[in-house]
Amino acid sequence: MTSPTRETGTHPVVAIDGPAGSGKSTLSRALAARLGIERLDTGAMYRSVAWAALRDQIDPSDLEAVAGVAQNLTIEVGDRVVADGTDITEAIRGPEVSAAVSAVAANPAVRAVMVERQRSWVALRGGGVVEGRDIASVVLPDADLKLYLTASPEVRAARRSEEGAEAVARRDRLDSTRAASPLEVADGAWVIDTGSNSVEQIVEEVLTWL
Ligand code: C5P
Repeated sequence: MTSPTRETGTHPVVAIDGPAGSGKSTLSRALAARLGIERLDTGAMYRSVAWAALRDQIDPSDLEAVAGVAQNLTIEVGDRVVADGTDITEAIRGPEVSAAVSAVAANPAVRAVMVERQRSWVALRGGGVVEGRDIASVVLPDADLKLYLTASPEVRAARRSEEGAEAVARRDRLDSTRAASPLEVADGAWVIDTGSNSVEQIVEEVLTWL
């Protein structure tokens, strides 16, 4: 399982990107468990910043104010998501945060803070599975494995039924067309349609690429 180019004592670095409902969380959990390494959900980090902006009654499009929120917010992302000492695991999946998060994530100053924290997270562990929108393109361009997940709009909307197809489509449009680190297929990324195979089948195939 160890790549010949990887330093002794380090783990693989796996970058997983894709739009909402493409299966990133399911696959990244399964891959991390299989490899015995940790997983980071970077979407939860942007959602935490959006939650804190709403908490502080700051307009998500106020670039300077939201950047200040991102800099000062403590975020712990694991089985639970805790920001500034409050467990917000459920709150960050609610409609208010989902509606505000793309504006917050389009803010270059917010992204700079998050990217640095994400790189530190990987450096501290010597590897890991990291999922998001800009992981292979910006955060970890030297990842050992880069995956870009897709699924049909119908499959993705069904997986995000609580958010609603229209809201999901709006979020994907904003994430793909923003100027700062838009969602895109990175150089060297394997594109996987998660609608056609089981998680187990995808994990088995992906492990042969590592
Ligand atoms: O992955 P999830 O759907 O929870 O991400 C929520 C939002 O966070 C995305 O719609 C996107 O705006 C933002 N995001 C991002 N870059 C990442 C991860 C998430 O811009 N690496």
